Amino acid sequence: MSSTPQSQQWFDRAVQVSPGGVNSPVRAFRAVGGTPRFMTSAQGAWLHDADGTRYLDLVGSWGPMLLGHAHPEVIAAVTEAAGRGTSFGTPSPPEVELAEEIVARTPVDLVRMVTSGTEATMSAIRLARGFTGRTRVVKFAGCYHGHVDSLLAEAGSGVVTLGLPGSPGIPAHVTADTIVLPYNDRDAVTAAFAEHGDEIACVITEAAAGNMGVVSPLPGFNQFLSETCAAHGALLVSDEVMTGFRVTRSGHWGLDGAQEGWRPDLLTFGKVMGGGFPAAAFGGRADVMALLAPSGPVYQAGTLAGNPVASTAGLTTLRLADDAAYARLDDWSAQARALVSSALDDAGVPHVVQNVGSMFSVVWGLTEPVHDFAGVQRQETHRYTAFFHAMLDAGVYLPPSAYESWFVSAAHDDEALTRMAEALPAAARAAAAATPA
Ligand SMILES: *Cc1c(COP(=O)(O)O)cnc(C)c1O
Repeated sequence: MSSTPQSQQWFDRAVQVSPGGVNSPVRAFRAVGGTPRFMTSAQGAWLHDADGTRYLDLVGSWGPMLLGHAHPEVIAAVTEAAGRGTSFGTPSPPEVELAEEIVARTPVDLVRMVTSGTEATMSAIRLARGFTGRTRVVKFAGCYHGHVDSLLAEAGSGVVTLGLPGSPGIPAHVTADTIVLPYNDRDAVTAAFAEHGDEIACVITEAAAGNMGVVSPLPGFNQFLSETCAAHGALLVSDEVMTGFRVTRSGHWGLDGAQEGWRPDLLTFGKVMGGGFPAAAFGGRADVMALLAPSGPVYQAGTLAGNPVASTAGLTTLRLADDAAYARLDDWSAQARALVSSALDDAGVPHVVQNVGSMFSVVWGLTEPVHDFAGVQRQETHRYTAFFHAMLDAGVYLPPSAYESWFVSAAHDDEALTRMAEALPAAARAAAAATPA
């Protein structure tokens, strides 16, 4: 393992003052072991840690860095905006321009800015409940919608499981109204609506699942959800915090052909739309959004919502992300997936590479694609642990968990592919040799 004295020192200091030494759990490397790298700068496709090591970045800040790090035009726009003042506590032009961009590209009529994806989904659920006058919420096992109390419910083994809290600190009554179903399971959805149809405020789903590794909706699944919700007077909330503006130029990835025809009532965005700053949003049908304060009675607010610097970062990012940028992302991702697959084949590691557009991940030790969380959980994560560390030692920074998507950027180029190609054979052999802990 490469030596990381500076990162180790920072981590030792961090654990003295922060729980687990991090501000978001998966950064702590608990799933793969070892000490997290403390990054001090980043440029394009590359990260630099406190020890001066340069890594090819396949995490992209967990999705936001669509154009790569420190894109010169984004930095210039942000610097200029910050120079004019960082927060006014009043409406300001950049938040209007960002909202216009989102309304123009996606099926939302009205949009409200917030500061994190968690806040977006939390507010969307409140609005769906306010609009329908109902309390129950359907979510899918393995889909992550931020750390909203009512959405941190895990599935039990039953087909229709009344939610049990996935974390201490969440009272059982808060998740009692959450129904957790297996992803891609139409029969489970039909059964839940047969039993609770007139009590379900909304179904929330990821437009394509990216938080259990990448799992596509089966053809027609989102369409089916949309029709089922409509038939029962429930709303469909499409959580596009990860997929929005990443899979396609449209925030709503389904509009670009993959799942033509379905139309959610509410959508949530985050990650890419903040351009690396804390900005997120939720939006949707005008009649539903009109219920939000101050035009309606459903309360929602934010001191830094629509922040001018964050809005400028997001707006500049979205404007720069043209069709050519998405074509580059897709092309690079396809080449990287092929490299990963052939290295694993050469080393004799059974695997499936699953992707949605440029987002991808590897299912370890299986040979058939998986379509739900139970399927993903059958994989051999010990192979990823070995693979992850070998790649890290060779200067490729992957997500420190087998259950995360890998993200590429429009700045990933031939040099980045070369780094992948050089690192992969040894990492694949490490994965082949790995034994369960
Ligand atoms: C990241 C993510 C969230 C949460 O966003 P935060 O900004 O981390 O609160 C919600 N939904 C999905 C699908 C996500 O990927």
